[in-house]
Amino acid sequence: MSIAGHEKAPRDGSPLRLVTDVCIVGTGAGGAAAGRVLAAANAKVILLEEGRRWRPTQFVPKPSVAYRNLYQEGNTRVMSGKSYIPLPGGRGVGGSTLVNSGICFRAPERVRRRWQSFGLDWAAPGELDSIYDDIEKRLFVAPTAPDIARANNLIFKKGVEALGVKGDFISRNAPGCQGCGVCQFGCPTGGKASVDLTLLRDAEEDGADIYTGCRVERVLQEHGRCVGVEGTLLSPDDRSVGRFEVRAEKTVLAGSAVGTPMLLWQSGLCNRSGQVGRNLHVHPGTGTIAFFDQDIRLWSGVTQGYYVEMEDEGITIETFTSTPETYYALAGPTLAGNLAKMNRMASCGAMIADRTSGTVRPSGDGRANIEYSLIDEDRERLVQALRFVCKVYAAAGAAELYSGLIGERPVKTLEEALRPLTAGVPLHALNVYASHPMGTCRMGPDPDEAVVRPDGRTHDLPGLHVADGSLFPEALGVNPQITIMAVATWVARRIAKAG
Ligand SMILES: Cc1cc2nc3c(=O)[nH]c(=O)nc-3n(C[C@H](O)[C@H](O)[C@H](O)COP(=O)(O)OP(=O)(O)OC[C@H]3O[C@@H](n4cnc5c(N)ncnc54)[C@H](O)[C@@H]3O)c2cc1C
Ligand code: SF4
Repeated sequence: MSIAGHEKAPRDGSPLRLVTDVCIVGTGAGGAAAGRVLAAANAKVILLEEGRRWRPTQFVPKPSVAYRNLYQEGNTRVMSGKSYIPLPGGRGVGGSTLVNSGICFRAPERVRRRWQSFGLDWAAPGELDSIYDDIEKRLFVAPTAPDIARANNLIFKKGVEALGVKGDFISRNAPGCQGCGVCQFGCPTGGKASVDLTLLRDAEEDGADIYTGCRVERVLQEHGRCVGVEGTLLSPDDRSVGRFEVRAEKTVLAGSAVGTPMLLWQSGLCNRSGQVGRNLHVHPGTGTIAFFDQDIRLWSGVTQGYYVEMEDEGITIETFTSTPETYYALAGPTLAGNLAKMNRMASCGAMIADRTSGTVRPSGDGRANIEYSLIDEDRERLVQALRFVCKVYAAAGAAELYSGLIGERPVKTLEEALRPLTAGVPLHALNVYASHPMGTCRMGPDPDEAVVRPDGRTHDLPGLHVADGSLFPEALGVNPQITIMAVATWVARRIAKAG
């Protein structure tokens, strides 16, 4: 059952007090998967979410509305360092799965092998396979169908094939997708099987309660053991309207690789290793556009439907589409004078498995202070990715190409587009964004090196577990949602088994 926390606040102003077997903080990919397993194991489960619950019909495909309602910090969250890099994250029942593109990749074998060598048993070959099978079945994961992929994806496919490179349609958890291209604003058709519509529904059917508008601010410990959490009750417009406390036998943090280390910092817990908030990894990304002599209408079709993996380089190229107003906001100066051609524009993004590492710390105002300075090696791989995308569009017959660099303009030939894309491109000339925060409470057997044990228990505090993207020891290299769900499932099964 979904319950608005503020509606349960006692009239006398005292805190809302709840008692349960398992309390899970966060309802995104990790929290939902953990809640589903634990509720099925007959535990009384309470999930706490600071955002609201949304129905598909409430989503408005406008950036301003979606950013305000569905994103952390109104989608103004940035990482600072040598440059400012946006780091979006979702907020609401479903977490980032509410606003993601539905891309589903299993962790590559080479990554799992490396992670196994870090002492992570679940990364052993075959270990997660049956969990992936189950999650993919429940989320209706299937390859993008060409008819809803439409021109923005198909023109890229044409270029990839002309170049003779291996590419494929992306598998997504969107069984009812109609190809409206606005996944980032919440799926208005309900066609995307985000976890609020799937894993959390299962958990609720098995008796779990989801309390919304509950911002957890502190993990509680007594006599050296975690006994639950406390925080602030929020009104639907995010005003503080009271307090709550949840007492639990077991507590699972799943507030994402930003929210979870923030909670541990604020609680002054679990940092004997000094690793809380360190080891932040993301997938830095960039992208570019091209103009064709035919209609593309990139706002019609699957948001991200076709990809190429450059495995040795740790680069993944994925088509990308959004609304015209989003493009104008992102690339206004580049598009100036080209607006009339927007219906002939194609667009593609690229992301890398970073080797840069950053930190998450609390700032004075309660928000996360995220420090991250992209190292030269990563910057150069982004340039390499842009060169590749330009070549694909040229091979597809683009009339005009664009290097993707700030200050450059669309040009007629591939040679002109590639000219500025040299290894020495300064960071400030690149349009960099980041996605998929990971690693800030990394797992590992050594309590001096890791925050969380390989089975999901924190090294320092009995009764406290973690089940989200913060567990990964380094960048995964592919879109992480189903791997986060799989690892959270693995962790939750161990909690259930321990009783
Ligand atoms: C725009 C966008 C597109 C993406 N596209 C894809 C994609 O196509 N495929 C893919 O695999 N991945 C994608 N991702 C990434 C993927 O969705 C995330 O990596 C994944 O959902 C992270 O899971 P998580 O459990 O770590 O955190 P989240 O899913 O982010 O969930 C964390 C939840 O915890 C809540 N929370 C945090 N702190 C607190 C607190 N103190 N109290 C109460 N609640 C709290 C948050 O509000 C949030 O709802 C995308 C992400 C974004 C932002
Ligand atoms: S493209 Fe449209 S219909 Fe398809 S999953 Fe995204 S928002 Fe939903």
